[in-house]
Amino acid sequence: MMKNSLIFYFLISLLFLPISTGHAAEKTDRIILGQHYDIFRDTANKATIEDLISGTYDKSFVASHQDYLFFWHTKDTIWLKLPTKELITNKQDYWIEITDKLDNIELYLVKEDGSYHVQKRGISNIDERNIQYRSTIFHINDPSVKEIYLKLDGIMPISVISYLYTTDSFINSVIGYKHLTGIFYGFLSALLIYNLFLYFSLKERAYLYYVLYMFSFILYQATLNSLDIELVGQLVPSWILFKSLVISGNLLFLFMLLFCLEFLELKKYLPKFHMVGKLLLGITCLSLMAVFIIPDVSIANNFTTTFAVVVFVFLWLCGLFVLIKGQKMARFYMIGWTVLLGSVIVQALAFLNMIPFHPRIFEDIPAIGAMFESIFLSLALGDKINIIKKEHQEMQQILNETLEHKVQERTQELEKAKLELEHLANTDRLTQIPNRVRLDCVLEEAFEHAQQQDIPLSIILLDIDYFKAVNDEFGHQVGDIVLKEAAGLLQASIREQDTIGRWGGEEFLVICPNTTLKQAVQLSEKLRQHLENYQFSIVKRKTGSFGVTSYVKGDSLHTLLSRCDKALYQAKEHGRNCVEFLMDDPQVSSQ
Ligand code: GH3
Ligand code: MG
Ligand code: MG
Repeated sequence: MMKNSLIFYFLISLLFLPISTGHAAEKTDRIILGQHYDIFRDTANKATIEDLISGTYDKSFVASHQDYLFFWHTKDTIWLKLPTKELITNKQDYWIEITDKLDNIELYLVKEDGSYHVQKRGISNIDERNIQYRSTIFHINDPSVKEIYLKLDGIMPISVISYLYTTDSFINSVIGYKHLTGIFYGFLSALLIYNLFLYFSLKERAYLYYVLYMFSFILYQATLNSLDIELVGQLVPSWILFKSLVISGNLLFLFMLLFCLEFLELKKYLPKFHMVGKLLLGITCLSLMAVFIIPDVSIANNFTTTFAVVVFVFLWLCGLFVLIKGQKMARFYMIGWTVLLGSVIVQALAFLNMIPFHPRIFEDIPAIGAMFESIFLSLALGDKINIIKKEHQEMQQILNETLEHKVQERTQELEKAKLELEHLANTDRLTQIPNRVRLDCVLEEAFEHAQQQDIPLSIILLDIDYFKAVNDEFGHQVGDIVLKEAAGLLQASIREQDTIGRWGGEEFLVICPNTTLKQAVQLSEKLRQHLENYQFSIVKRKTGSFGVTSYVKGDSLHTLLSRCDKALYQAKEHGRNCVEFLMDDPQVSSQ
């Protein structure tokens, strides 16, 4: 989206170049009148055209040295004298254009014989205009005119950029201006509509404020260029024309502030600036209402001009601080605002005569600056959406990673718990060696293995001798100790492939896979000796009796175990502390 809109704006700005240069070329045969005037400030408001023609005030006129004449709000009547000798040379029609909103302006065409003809223009005389155009137009069609006087007064600020045209150059100028405004407003409207669609699809409030801001900006530019006078001048009451600039200016501040507060998320990043922003918003609303109530336009004009500086600098600072806080989204915002402020400063410098006057600087630079600001703000919006999207994706990734990590951790914990549970289920609590459950399982497996693969399997059942006596003599706890020590000892003495477990009470079973009867007997003997020689904690000496047998074809688990049990019984019979074995026992097998 970003890239597309960048290309779009780039193409649009390319379009501007030929048109604006062409426009400038067409205007070369117009004459800027500013320096041709003599100026008389009539502070007493007494002078009449007759006085001037008769020369009463000739000494009061001073030569102008500026192309742009500016008197702001004044109670004085301003008289401008324009000698026509050098200017009006041919016998053809001439046109004077004055581009600014004026309240009351009268043009006197004075002939050699002292007679004169008057044309009245300005908002107060809007019905008298001969051409429905944005600026004030006077038609000069009398070659015998000797002098021209302009009289300016009223409630609007008096500012005069004036040109003299021939009919052809005037038509060219109007056409050029229409082209330029067509492109300018067309572009701004496209930007507005584009962002309105974005608002509908993204539902981001910042876009709505941007659209409102663009709307008020277009309105403001239109009133600044006096398009209200051109288009609806004769339809609306004159107070609207007097106040349109401050009304649209205040609307512009309102939506500008709303947009910037929302876009920069001041509430989040700069809460104190947010408070100031809200205060400025409040002032804007009050000033907007005051414009309608207070009849004096000069108060509203003076206030709005000062307030504009405060709002612009404030919004620029907001962007700067948000950027310093590391919010990348403020990049384009800052570029936009800096361009706008730059253009306003250039205009102010021209106003203060610190840089040479050029109508381009005055009329176009602030408009173009503001247009670029709008473009950069629109880019900033797209940029912000991108940043938010990226942050969102990153957050999602982190979330996923932590979630995965958590799941892994839980799985490991569960695995561990499962193993622990298995261990608990398969282990004898007292001796910590495999219990009966485990022995059954291992024996079953070994038995099946022996059966299927035809490999030997032997088992040893051992019983501690006279164990009851330990309990009786030393108590049950000592009996437990003997059991634990015996289990530890036996466990340590068997081979790796063997499994020993507690069969019950003081009986243990050793399962010896892949072991012949002979090997099992040898192992039993070794175990018996280890037991006999072991020094138990309290009881010192303890012995065991061993029954051994091996798997033979036709055996079931039951017959195998019974035979082993029988061998153990025999060991007990034979005086204990000995090893007895039984081969296939038909008696047991038949049972
Ligand atoms: P024999 O030589 O014939 O095997 O004599 P014995 O006393 O060892 O045999 P008997 O079966 O008469 O006694 C076994 C005793 O083992 C009975 C029982 O109280 C004791 N016993 C079984 N399990 C435990 C145990 O977990 N702890 C303790 N302390 N004693 C146990
Ligand atoms: Mg026993
Ligand atoms: Mg016993």
